[in-house]
Amino acid sequence: MNNRNINFKTLCVIEHKDTKTTPPHQLPIYATSSFVFEEVEESIEIFKGNKSGHVYSRYGNPTIDTVAEKIAAMEGKGSEEVPFAFLTSSGMSAISTLLYTLLNAGDAVLTQANIYGGTTELFNKVLSRHGIHPVFARFDQMEELDHIIVNNPGIKAIYLETPSNPTLDCVDLSEIARMAQKHGIVTIIDNTFCTPYLQQPFLFGIDFVIHSATKYLNGHGNSLAGVILGRNNAHKAAVKTTLKLMGGTCNAWDAWLLNNGLKTLALRMDAHCSNAMQLAVWLNAHPRVTKVNYIGLQDHPYHAIASKQMRAFGGMLSFMVDGSMEDTFEVINKLSLCTQAPTLGDVDTLILHPASSSHLNVDKDLRASFGITDNLVRVSVGIEDINDLIADFEQALK
Ligand SMILES: *Cc1c(COP(=O)(O)O)cnc(C)c1O
Repeated sequence: MNNRNINFKTLCVIEHKDTKTTPPHQLPIYATSSFVFEEVEESIEIFKGNKSGHVYSRYGNPTIDTVAEKIAAMEGKGSEEVPFAFLTSSGMSAISTLLYTLLNAGDAVLTQANIYGGTTELFNKVLSRHGIHPVFARFDQMEELDHIIVNNPGIKAIYLETPSNPTLDCVDLSEIARMAQKHGIVTIIDNTFCTPYLQQPFLFGIDFVIHSATKYLNGHGNSLAGVILGRNNAHKAAVKTTLKLMGGTCNAWDAWLLNNGLKTLALRMDAHCSNAMQLAVWLNAHPRVTKVNYIGLQDHPYHAIASKQMRAFGGMLSFMVDGSMEDTFEVINKLSLCTQAPTLGDVDTLILHPASSSHLNVDKDLRASFGITDNLVRVSVGIEDINDLIADFEQALK
């Protein structure tokens, strides 16, 4: 139709296309809920999956899918098969979507007691109401885990984190993958703390990786997103169906912000690791610090396992102040360069008191048995100049 014959109200509604041929240098934000078909026959082919094309943004969108493919390339680097990847609306939706895909009522999941608090709550408050039950265990004795699996035929998956929050306990990925394969059960890891730059679980035989992309992958604290990755295509269609029907899809804007963050992931992680190592060594020598948990330190009980499977030791550490909870609060409140915020992986240094925040709902004795005492401080070490960071801790510990 010639635009000259079109009435004003219609002109308001018609979508114009950019017809110039130069492609964009950077990924555009496709703010569109649906996609256009030229002919009915084409729509049928796309709906059937015989022809590639977008349909509706809850099923996929050029911005979202492009970022998912980039993360798949990172997580799959060095693997024989390219993993599949889907972006989700948050780390929690990545976890729930994957677990609802893989498990049925009556199944159980073997997991650690000291994983991300939200995940433990998901198991206890949501999944268990639908007949999917967690079996909590320590993951440092493989024979014990073997025993638990043999005695619980309902266990269909192992769900783990390494290093764990906030004491940085590690699990040997090759060993756990080998054991799971022996029993014919799948392994899932939350790789948020490491990102694929520091640890690639697929190379050790883990089946599924999830991320809270809200943390290091974005790195700037300005979007919420998650990722589900699978080592091979065996469960790709099933994950896609669950994601599309439960509706935990990512949105183009958050995917685009994540894409910006990914460009500097390697540079940021190098800086996080280097600063965390220097701060850990400094804190370790400080008279008011009784303990430092950092896997880069030779005397950390999991240093050897971490060295085997991680490129470097990450940006997370925790330490104990010589004193009461009040003394610990005083140190935290005196830090001026570091920010108190309940997240991690941003470019600036973030401080958290686990016993009164992330682990508040965990019983005090149970908490203490995991090393989460009232004088423990968690630090997500940023990429500032290390001298400024140390100066801030020095004045706060005075
Ligand atoms: C933050 C976090 C999550 C949850 O991710 P959201 O994006 O907040 O939903 C899961 N696992 C770990 C290790 C996290 O740090």
